[in-house]
Amino acid sequence: MDATRGELFIVASPSGGGKTTLIRRVMQELAAQGREPHFSISHTTRPPRPAERHGVDYHFVDRASFQRMVVAGEFLEFAEVHSNLYGTSRAEVEGRLERGCDVFLDIDVQGARQVRASVPDAVKVFVFPPSYVELRRRLVARGQDDEAAIELRLKNAVQEMREYAEFDFVIINDRLEEATRALASVVAAARMRPFRMRARVQAILEEFERAVKKED
Ligand code: ADP
Ligand code: 5GP
Repeated sequence: MDATRGELFIVASPSGGGKTTLIRRVMQELAAQGREPHFSISHTTRPPRPAERHGVDYHFVDRASFQRMVVAGEFLEFAEVHSNLYGTSRAEVEGRLERGCDVFLDIDVQGARQVRASVPDAVKVFVFPPSYVELRRRLVARGQDDEAAIELRLKNAVQEMREYAEFDFVIINDRLEEATRALASVVAAARMRPFRMRARVQAILEEFERAVKKED
């Protein structure tokens, strides 16, 4: 584990759980602190929603192009979700981590499992909606999916939520302000893991060793 690499955050939830909103809010805070966080833009075969833009929300591609990328080994992970293909390209993630940028992935539980296998120190966060009724309300209020798409997402939500114990942290996204604080706390805590603290801790340890030697 290389302490100079950026941190990889996997944020999963059922659709409408609020992961995109939370990630964007925490990224704004990080940017204000002078960091360079990056939101990984996935590839998908799903058609764009009215408010979505190619290259901003997703890279929208057809199935043939997606499959070509699979065969070429260009994906860090990919999965079929709600009857569409979604994948995280290596190009979105690897160079940035090398350069020390923190990278946020908004992906489903199948993808989270695949990333865990290849990036074991990735920090995995699962976002829960506060209730079924509220998740339905948010999906409808978002106004981006038709009724059939919303029903499919609600139907699949239970299966996805049952996997929460595979994650390092669980956030219940009831009040947005509190949930944002919770995700910001996870980001801060991740930086306190021993391999991240090694350089600073080592300097203090060496100072102690010198002091103890002098007293001997
Ligand atoms: P996801 O990325 O998980 O699909 P979004 O971030 O798009 O979910 O959130 C779904 C909808 O719910 C959006 O319209 C968003 O503004 C809204 N939302 C997210 N979190 C909250 C919250 N805590 N309270 C009220 N509305 C929320
Ligand atoms: P939506 O169609 O609502 O944008 O996303 C549907 C689901 O696909 C969400 O759970 C979202 O996290 C997931 N998803 C988005 N991008 C990716 C990706 O690159 N890989 C995987 N495995 N899931 C993704």
